[in-house]
Amino acid sequence: MRLTFLGATRTVTGSKYLLDTGSRQVLFDCGLFQGLKPLRERNWTPLPIDPQAIDAVVLTHAHLDHSGYLPLLVKSGFRGPVFCTRATRDLCAILLPDSGHLQEEEAERANRYGYSKHHPALPLYGETDAIQAMHSFRPLPYGEEFDLGDGIRARFDNAGHILGAAFVTVKRGGTTIVFSGDLGRPVDPILYSPVRIPRADVLLVESTYGNRDHPDIDPSLAFAAIVRRTAARGGTVVIPANAVGRSQLVMFYVHALKQANQIPDIPVFLDSPMAADATALFHAHHEDHKLDEAETSRIFGATRIVNSVEESKSIDRSDLPKIVISASGMATGGRVLHHLKAFASDAKNTVLFVGYQAAGTRGSAMLGGAERIRIHGGDVPIEAEVAVLDGLSAHADALEILDWLSGFDAAPRSTYIVHGEPAAADALQERIRGRLGWTTHVPEYREVITIS
Ligand code: ZN
Repeated sequence: MRLTFLGATRTVTGSKYLLDTGSRQVLFDCGLFQGLKPLRERNWTPLPIDPQAIDAVVLTHAHLDHSGYLPLLVKSGFRGPVFCTRATRDLCAILLPDSGHLQEEEAERANRYGYSKHHPALPLYGETDAIQAMHSFRPLPYGEEFDLGDGIRARFDNAGHILGAAFVTVKRGGTTIVFSGDLGRPVDPILYSPVRIPRADVLLVESTYGNRDHPDIDPSLAFAAIVRRTAARGGTVVIPANAVGRSQLVMFYVHALKQANQIPDIPVFLDSPMAADATALFHAHHEDHKLDEAETSRIFGATRIVNSVEESKSIDRSDLPKIVISASGMATGGRVLHHLKAFASDAKNTVLFVGYQAAGTRGSAMLGGAERIRIHGGDVPIEAEVAVLDGLSAHADALEILDWLSGFDAAPRSTYIVHGEPAAADALQERIRGRLGWTTHVPEYREVITIS
């Protein structure tokens, strides 16, 4: 068998791994490249295989850096099934059409204001392409083996990263390949812990935080302090958050902190129609998380959902202290850009990041101390406090990754370190070699390995 690394090599986006048995071609994850321009341009580079020749796609979870290329694959001729968990399917039904819509909007705006060097600027795919792609989905429960042809069997196990996220274990002949997808935290107030995987001959493990350990303090204490001091200044806390995962965790903490009188009772807005839809899925998938129906209603019901653009604009005009949660999490697009335009230039406000900020994103620039960022072709000076809470991340830190790896009964023959920027991937490699003595490799883009 051959495995080709088509993304998430020395970067955190574009996850795609093609398994070729000689007669079957299966693509594991189908993610978009995001962030730095040379990476985004890879979305336009044809795959080294005709999409029509791919027999099936298997998704670890719904985040766009793992699923967002799928509408383009289908548009380019892929006709096979897409296997994933049930919650991943339901989340993709929200995320993928929105991704197509955002790309159409972005292309349209670039054409209107002439800020793209492409004339006309085109979207990678549109909303209808994404809706079309949803017909290919074959949702499955965790723990059930399924057939990918030519003797390939696979199963999903809970990865604890977001609703529906899974590790994929693939068996063919006597060989087992495990794809970690994104590895969640061992302790999370909403999601169950990642399950232990006993065996792999070949393992692909993510390394987003491979060079960092999340702070040991309770993230809710740091969060409360930020909200309190911003409110005391009469300011607004803008929280760029992924529609799926971080938005719900932030709502959970805001609710808990208000209940405990740790933060003032200021209004909380969720301005992301997608996040609102994703939140509704917590009612539909109780088997996948810890909250019962009453808790789900109470926690998520405490946030005001913003439904219209007019309402969204009225938030930006209001001068009262408040919390605004809005996507996207790395400020690469979405409604949060409008809130940053409204609030980032005033020192009384705070922009609070709660997830990983990939290189080249506005989030990464702001955390790096950028004095201004570019939004919709204009410059926005950054005067607001800019803060980050790594402790709210959906990704395991280096120690947590090592603990999960320690759960394997024996060392894999080879461990490939993916989904991390170079410093993170290299640091994790050192720690795995040092603590576990495993054979590891950090693959390059389009590297091909042979699995016997
Ligand atoms: Zn993810």
